[in-house]
Amino acid sequence: MRYLILGASAAGINAAKTIRELDKSSEIAIISEDTKVYSRCMLHHVISGSRTVEEINFMEKDFFAKYKISWIKGKKVIDLNIDKNEVKLNDDTVEKYNKLLIATGSSSVIPPIKNLREAKEVYTLRNISDVFHIQNSLKKSKNVVIIGAGLVGIDALIGIMNNNLKISLVEMGDRILPLQLDKKASSKYEKLLLEKGIDIYTSAKVEEVTLNKTGFVKKVILSNGTAINCDLAVVAAGVKANIDFIKDSRIKVNRGIIVDSTCKTTVENIYAAGDVCATAPIWPIAVKEAITAAYNMTGNYKVLDDNFGLRNSMNFLGLQTVSLGLIDPPDSSYTVDILENKDIYKKIIHKDGIIYGALLVGDIAYCGVLSYLIRNKVNISKIDKNIFQIDYSDFYNIKPDGQFAYEEIASDNIVNDTLEQITVSKPKSFIDKIRSFISKF
Ligand SMILES: Cc1cc2nc3c(=O)[nH]c(=O)nc-3n(C[C@H](O)[C@H](O)[C@H](O)COP(=O)(O)OP(=O)(O)OC[C@H]3O[C@@H](n4cnc5c(N)ncnc54)[C@H](O)[C@@H]3O)c2cc1C
Repeated sequence: MRYLILGASAAGINAAKTIRELDKSSEIAIISEDTKVYSRCMLHHVISGSRTVEEINFMEKDFFAKYKISWIKGKKVIDLNIDKNEVKLNDDTVEKYNKLLIATGSSSVIPPIKNLREAKEVYTLRNISDVFHIQNSLKKSKNVVIIGAGLVGIDALIGIMNNNLKISLVEMGDRILPLQLDKKASSKYEKLLLEKGIDIYTSAKVEEVTLNKTGFVKKVILSNGTAINCDLAVVAAGVKANIDFIKDSRIKVNRGIIVDSTCKTTVENIYAAGDVCATAPIWPIAVKEAITAAYNMTGNYKVLDDNFGLRNSMNFLGLQTVSLGLIDPPDSSYTVDILENKDIYKKIIHKDGIIYGALLVGDIAYCGVLSYLIRNKVNISKIDKNIFQIDYSDFYNIKPDGQFAYEEIASDNIVNDTLEQITVSKPKSFIDKIRSFISKF
């Protein structure tokens, strides 16, 4: 048996490790364009110089030797032949497989804005090579424009701040981090950035960039006519799945590769995991999908138990935030509870006892339980408590015969029963319950 994995990042590495844990003897090989293993979530630390590439490596030093995995690095897969069970690399070599995992992630997109793709000193932020380009460019730049104020754009901004640069942030939406934050939460981060001297342009579309005589970016022109000086632009305006090498229509794709709940593609011995599936482009989901795929590739049945991708945490400029599910109610049938003081802003969106979204800014306590409640659509209507203080103890119970029970709260029916019991005699916390249990003896 030969397992072949395309991609050496969150999905590829975790899949390889899991396969080895489940299958001690088969051959495992990884192919990647990457020549190093690193966390993309930490690239901004390398830009700022606070970490080296080695310090953002997320696996054990002797990983490949320890798990007996061979790594073909610095090679690009350019074709996949399903009938021959092989992939072709950009050096014309061919690698065979019995089972294949596609974990090739995605690439940043540069939108078709006039001169943007042609301009020199315009970069994206996805790979370590982008970091090196940006670092080089920073040595000679005075005016930096970040196009796109989503998580990657803000990461880039944080990485290059504190370099005595004039930095401008341009966002098409009406606020920064528009997919993660509502207007209020976003304004808290905007305030922090303005205090650092960053110019922020929201509801602003880039119309074109102008170039100097040698083709270097000179100005970024917005649709309202504003011209921003620029000698380095970082574009963070979306991604596309790395699926160019898939030309055979038997592997079904839409925005990414389509997989079932076992992470299998529409071809029997081919699996896919991570950003290449375009389900939820975040690290933990890539890992979960990879582990699920690994189980099924090795004949151990496992289904994806969590693909809740609408969760983000951030800690830019010392302000902690967790954003889960909906950030604004879709219509007036939802209830929105808000808790706010000068340091914190919390918001929970719910309807008929089900929580659909939560924003916790400045204090992220209870984010674990909120994430669970949202992901599993747990009905909380019978919990007689401040919604901002529901915690796991609300789901613990002591049975009349003195046994402890941590009630399963994944199913709505069980939840309702459980909550009924809890509301009848609900101690304040789990610790209280232990105390009252002990006091019986
Ligand atoms: C700047 C930045 C910040 C981020 N911050 C966060 C965060 O805070 N929290 C979070 O959860 N997520 C974050 N993410 C997203 C997270 O990094 C991704 O979800 C995760 O990396 C996906 O892992 P993956 O293995 O699916 O794909 P990728 O990490 O994209 O890896 C793809 C792998 O495939 C290889 N490859 C691609 N094409 C080919 C080919 N044709 N042939 C051979 N090899 C190929 C690549 O070399 C690479 O090794 C961030 C991403 C970026 C870019």
